[in-house]
Amino acid sequence: MAQQDTDQQHTGVLPVDDEGFVVDTEECEQREADWRGRGTSRPITVVGNPVLHKECEDVTDFGEEFQQLVADMFASQRTAEGVGLAANQIGVSKKVFVYDCPDDDGVRHVGVVCNPRLVELPADRRRLDDSNEGCLSVPTAYAALARPDFAEVTGQDEKGNAVRVRGTGYFARCLQHETDHLYGYLYIDRLSKRERKDALRQMAENEPRYPVVAND
Ligand SMILES: [Zn+2]
Repeated sequence: MAQQDTDQQHTGVLPVDDEGFVVDTEECEQREADWRGRGTSRPITVVGNPVLHKECEDVTDFGEEFQQLVADMFASQRTAEGVGLAANQIGVSKKVFVYDCPDDDGVRHVGVVCNPRLVELPADRRRLDDSNEGCLSVPTAYAALARPDFAEVTGQDEKGNAVRVRGTGYFARCLQHETDHLYGYLYIDRLSKRERKDALRQMAENEPRYPVVAND
């Protein structure tokens, strides 16, 4: 078999910049609408549902059924007014998340990442940001959580092509939060005992504004 032409290394769904990172800021409106239009919104799983508390399976089949899952995720994300959604948040234990999220400069990013891994940052890139964080699976609750204000994730796009995604500010937070989900962690697992309890109390006291899966 012939090797691929080295001038065309990237055959992914989205273009890449000269540092090899995916360009997920173009035609956001259209791409998000296309996905969402093919999808069906599903209710969101909430803290306590076992699917949220264990590592998801790797995505290995990028076929039709998987494309439908991604479309359903975009539809569900929009219904719940989220900026990111992991598959286990609609009850599917597969390592894929979608996002529609602004960065530090207010620039919108839309994309899909399968089998993500967070890239370990060198110490000089680790500046913590302690903004508020919330999660569709802990409806109505918010808590301050310190996380690095820059993140890099490697993984695959929805067709299985290798991708690298990076983000700043709120989008960096999103990339870390969604990757955590796929390994069975919620942001409240990173809070102190007292803060976690407070987040669960907020959730208990308020009604979610979108359909959720009731826990038994
Ligand atoms: Zn979440």
